[in-house]
Parts: sequence; C-alpha cells; structure tokens
Amino acid sequence: MKKFIRILISVIIATLMLALLTSCFSVCPETANNIIFMVSDGMGLSNITAARIYKNGIDGVPLNIETLPVIGYQRTYSKNSTITDSASAASAWACGEKFNNGEICKHTENESYPRSILEYGKEKLKATGLVVTSTVTHATPAAFAAHVTDRRCENEIARQYLQVTSLDAILGGGKERFDSNRADPCGTSGSLLLEAKTKGYDIVYNKAEMEAAVAVAKRVTKILGLFNDENMIPEYKRTFDTTEPRLHEMTAAALTILEKNPQGFFLLIEGSQIDGGNHSHNFEYVVNDLLAFDETVRVVLKWIEEKPSRKKNTLLIITSDHETGGFAMTGPSNALSKKGDLNGLEVGWISRKHTGGDTIIWSQGPGSQKLGKSLDNTDIFKVMINTFR
Ligand SMILES: [Zn+2]
Repeated sequence: MKKFIRILISVIIATLMLALLTSCFSVCPETANNIIFMVSDGMGLSNITAARIYKNGIDGVPLNIETLPVIGYQRTYSKNSTITDSASAASAWACGEKFNNGEICKHTENESYPRSILEYGKEKLKATGLVVTSTVTHATPAAFAAHVTDRRCENEIARQYLQVTSLDAILGGGKERFDSNRADPCGTSGSLLLEAKTKGYDIVYNKAEMEAAVAVAKRVTKILGLFNDENMIPEYKRTFDTTEPRLHEMTAAALTILEKNPQGFFLLIEGSQIDGGNHSHNFEYVVNDLLAFDETVRVVLKWIEEKPSRKKNTLLIITSDHETGGFAMTGPSNALSKKGDLNGLEVGWISRKHTGGDTIIWSQGPGSQKLGKSLDNTDIFKVMINTFR
C-alpha cells in the first residue's frame, strides 16, 4: 500500500512538472543572446524598389533584405518634431523614449539619462560593437553607446565610447574625432589613440590591417578601425586603389570578434550614406550604397544560417530611421525598365530634407513576431529589452 502511494505521488509530481513545462513553452518569452540591429539611414521603400529593378530586373528575385520573414512598419516622429533627425530616431530605438531632434539618448532638461539597449547588453557581460560607413561617432551609432544633448559633440561621443562604454568593436570613419585639436560643442578635444592602445584596442586604418588583426583574433579582443578622417568613401566613388574596407567586410570582422564572447553580443550596423544620396538627389549614390547595405544583409544572413545555435539565439532587425527626400519612381510609364540600366528609370525627389512617412521593419529570430505590425519607433526598444538575455 505504502509503495502504491509513493508511486502515485511520483506520478502526480511528474504530471505537474510536465504541465508546468508545457505551459512555459506557450507563454515564456522568446530569448536571444545576440541582437544584430541594422540601419539603412534615410531609406524609403521606393529606394528598395528602384535598387531591386536595377540589380535583378523588374520581375527579378527579391533583394536579400526582402527575404526576411517578418515585416512591420513604424512611426518616426520625434519628441519635438513631425520630421525626425537621425539622433532622435536612433535614441528612440536605443533608449525607448522620444527625444528632441539632435539629442543622443539624453534629454536637455535632465541630468540623468536612460541606459541604452547596448548598455543593457554590456551589463549582461555581452560584447558590443558599432559598424558604420559615416563617422563612427555620427548620430545613429552614437545613440546606442553615448549620452549627449547635442549630436555635434562627436569628440565627446568618441571619448565616451572608449572611456565609459568600452565597446569591443568600433569600425567606420571619423578618425579626426578620436584625435582632435579643436573642441566640439561639448568642449571636448584631444587624442584618444594612445589611451585606446593601452586599453587593449588593436587600432587599424585600412582593410589589410583590419583583416590581419582579425586573422590573429585569438589575441584580439577589441578593435578600433578608423578608415577615413570623415565619412567613408561612398560606394559609387570607390576605385581599384581604395584601401577602406566595405560595409560587409567590416561586418564580417566585427562578427568574428564579438562572437568570442560566450555571453553573446549587441551589434549595430549602419549603411549610413543612403541618406546622403537622397539628400543630394544622386540616384547612383543611393543605389550603390543601398546594394552595398543589402550585400551586408546577405553576409549577416549567411553567418546566422551557418550554425543552428546562431539561428536559435540571434534576433536580427533591419530598419530605417526616416525616409529622405520623398524619393519616387515616376517612369517610364509606357515601357518596362531593364536590369542594369540606371537611366532607364525616371526618378525624382520632392525635398532635400527628411520626410515624415513611416518606415519598414524587417526582422527574424526570437522575438521578431512582435515586430510584424504597425509600431512606434520606441516599441522596437521594448521588443529588444524583453528578448535580450
Ligand atoms: Zn539625413
């Protein structure tokens, strides 16, 4: 009889545990060790259409970015303006609140500031990185790893990257911001390069140096790549002797370094100059930088697919902070455009500035189902913080 009761109790306990486990499978939040956040600055959906027609033809295969399974869109207005700039838009993603244009995750009226999703990852002992084609201290990357009330404080942002946030991978343009003899609006100037060396950064200035550093990356834990004094050379201006790495090459280097951290990582990747192409009404500039960004998406997707553990643990989000210029395709209206013919598309812009329309969010991986609808840009922070473990 005693034996029977013991068996009965064990069966009840086992059933209860099973019930608990199954209920967790349906309600427990999905988690990601890694977040890869990719930004195509100033890109609207019509830019994608035009680049796809140019590359693959009017009925051609989708671009890499278009193959992501979850698609939503977001409102982009800032705290003080219908039309956002890159600073307030990136701050909304990074810190989960509306900010005024120009602010980098710090309100002008407050001394305290919210921590960013990247800093949250840092607290969890994860690796962190920024990979961009503008100055690496530009507004979009800055919002994830610095706090200033004026986006022009790029020397101060560089100082915070190295002295406060202590990022593991910093790759882009803007060498002068790390070695400046002119004070920025925050009053910061001076050289950070010697200090970066003593802090263990491998400092590299061209593609060959970057790849050599990564090849011996067993030893390298931190990398600072500054490939231009200002923004990097846009794709359409590259020549055979350009020594700067391309966006997908910097991304591959950063992934190799960040993945060494067993806790996972947060990586921000920006195709920074699609915005510049739209500001300057230069179609060749837009298309080439957009396709370089899309090539980077291909590299990231391939990296994720290579290992089941990466696929299971990586949330990938790709989006734009705002549209720029009001770009539209206006023709031809009596013929079909041909692949590879930039002049076979009639295009135009209605403004030299940013516009206020919603922007697309492509995503995949744990947590991404919550991004497949109409959202505010601050909602993306909420999804990330609830998923990142
Ligand atoms: Zn812009």
